[in-house]
Amino acid sequence: MSKISYIQVILPLKLGWEAFYSLPEGVTVLEGDRVEVIFASRSYVAVVSSTGVIPPENALENIRHIAKKLLGVPPVSKEEIAFWRQVSQYYLCTVGEVYKAAYPAEKSDQAEVQARRAERLDVKMAKLEEKLAKARNDTTRERYRLELESLRAEAPVPIEEFKVAPVPLSSEQASAADAVRKAFAEGKTVLLDGVTGSGKTEIYLNLALEVLASGRSVLYLVPEIALSGQLQDRVRKVFPSARLYNSSITSGRRLETAEFVRSGNPYLVLGTRSSLFLPHRNLGLVIVDEEHDTSYKQDSPAPRYHARETAIMLAGIHGANVIMGSATPSLESLYNSEIGIFRRIQLKQKFHSGEDASVMIVDTVAERRKRGMVGDLSRKLLFEIQNTLEAGEQVLLLRSRRSYAPALQCEECGTIPKCPSCNVSLSLHRNPDRLVCHYCGRTLPYTGTCPKCGGALKPLGAGTQKIEEEIQAVFPSARIARLDSDNAAEESAIIKSFAKGEIDILIGTQIITKGFDFQNLTLVGVIQADNILAQHDFRADERAFQLLEQFRGRSGRRGKAGRFVIQTREPGHPVFAKLSGQDALDVSMLEERRQFGYPPYTRLIHIVVKDSSEKRLDWLSRELASAIESSAVSVTGPFAPAVDKVAGKYIRQLRMTLPRDRHLKQRKQAICRAVSDIEKRYKYAGHIIIDVDPV
Ligand code: ADP
Ligand code: ZN
Repeated sequence: MSKISYIQVILPLKLGWEAFYSLPEGVTVLEGDRVEVIFASRSYVAVVSSTGVIPPENALENIRHIAKKLLGVPPVSKEEIAFWRQVSQYYLCTVGEVYKAAYPAEKSDQAEVQARRAERLDVKMAKLEEKLAKARNDTTRERYRLELESLRAEAPVPIEEFKVAPVPLSSEQASAADAVRKAFAEGKTVLLDGVTGSGKTEIYLNLALEVLASGRSVLYLVPEIALSGQLQDRVRKVFPSARLYNSSITSGRRLETAEFVRSGNPYLVLGTRSSLFLPHRNLGLVIVDEEHDTSYKQDSPAPRYHARETAIMLAGIHGANVIMGSATPSLESLYNSEIGIFRRIQLKQKFHSGEDASVMIVDTVAERRKRGMVGDLSRKLLFEIQNTLEAGEQVLLLRSRRSYAPALQCEECGTIPKCPSCNVSLSLHRNPDRLVCHYCGRTLPYTGTCPKCGGALKPLGAGTQKIEEEIQAVFPSARIARLDSDNAAEESAIIKSFAKGEIDILIGTQIITKGFDFQNLTLVGVIQADNILAQHDFRADERAFQLLEQFRGRSGRRGKAGRFVIQTREPGHPVFAKLSGQDALDVSMLEERRQFGYPPYTRLIHIVVKDSSEKRLDWLSRELASAIESSAVSVTGPFAPAVDKVAGKYIRQLRMTLPRDRHLKQRKQAICRAVSDIEKRYKYAGHIIIDVDPV
């Protein structure tokens, strides 16, 4: 009998180890090959992580043959596996969870079909070209031509097509671009800190072109919300063959994009955070635009990664350069620039000259006293809106709460109706009338009366729908629209018609603050900035400033003077001083973080434990806290977060603040071990979440 050879594989599961399998006679595999295996009676597509291994003696009798080697399915590269391992170590999850994120829901037959499909594409195109050459009449010719075109869009594109020149840079931009090249030559990551409209995008496009021309590829990351038509069009103008990628594209398109990336030709992918996990080849440059954006952090499921850190890991593996850009850099990146890990390069002028929108702070408490308020709107803001409409220009209003009323209260007994499964108040939504829980999504009928005493319910506060109603009442002939996650399906249509000038006033949530360039928009306003400021989080000021500054950048982009009106109960807040350019908030915020030992001076890890039994939850969270503390890591908690019950599950949190020193890795591993010990000992898997660098 010949000697059996053994391999280890990565399964798309939360497994802390790599399973052993044996190879049937005559079958050979290499590291990275894809194989079908049976694990716990289910079939999976696994990745071979090591070959020629010697399993421990006591495991031998349980080791089974692989079901089959998948033919024609492209292998996973060494770089991909190295990347997954790094991500899993940093974010304290398993390599299998990262593999699953990179190759979601892949079935073996699907993978094989896809591989054959890519091969067939070439053959199909050759045949069509032949037919086209022979076609007799115009109609058939046109049909073949269109068909061919759509096939070409699927096929990998050769480098020649990248040679469309981007616009020439201004002198400030050109010297910034030179500074970037110099920093790259010194192996630095670049933080491009440039005001909105300064031409950061033009600089990225120029750099991307150089990288592609040198035969290497480019990954251009943007926040989910910024992957709008406007940016796509700009990128496609320079790079007609650029691929778009985000987590909501169909699995067929995902596989095609992966194929395109694997083809070996230089490519540019414009995508959201998940495009980090494409099977990248020969990357030369990773761009992280709007690097401060919190949507770069994945909440759930694992890996709970941040695209900013993860981009650096990916680039490290490929020897690629990284450029991050923002008009409002994160304190993390400012800190990294300060300690010399990043090189900060600034752009201070808008390309289409023009001042930043001037800021007007309206004190709503004082205004109410002076009868300067009409409902939730100040007369000052209404006056500005009126002037803007009269000038034939447009208005964008931010109200950070969707719904008609964020909460309701009984006029008789004071009861505030809450969601039966979450510890949060229900919001009233109109058209149709209903109560909605913003945490679990549950909808309940609205009767207008208190569930306890039958008294009348009155709205507490005003959401986007109510603001829309109030604005419409003051400006009955204005064309008004609303955009929030209740009608996000119509997002691109609404944005388009606002850009075309078919809407005069657009009211919305955070969704409207980013990425759009509207030529005729000259007034932006914030209704009730207070709940943007009043987050109980050490990052509250940083976030509020970023949001308001980004929003302000929407107005007056083309030389026209823009105005920015903020209604607030706290006009003296330091965030407003910074907006008016009176204060270097980033310096004081960094100093505060240092004093109180917050990130970026330390590393934060959160553990969230959820359970439908509150008693078991309290007991096991305490067990976990003491297990972690016994490995010399100090823990805050367990404590109940502000919203301590969601979708029927109670929640407890543990917080660990780790010094950034040489023991960091070791401490993280200790936390990870404590969690898996508790999971095993009490059969508690599925209840505990580890979040590294939470945002
Ligand atoms: P940012 O990305 O910093 O917000 P953009 O790259 O979007 O800035 O530039 C703002 C506007 O100015 C865009 O409409 C862009 O096309 C234009 N622009 C910037 N730089 C140039 C340039 N060098 N030549 C022509 N137009 C430019
Ligand atoms: Zn709920």
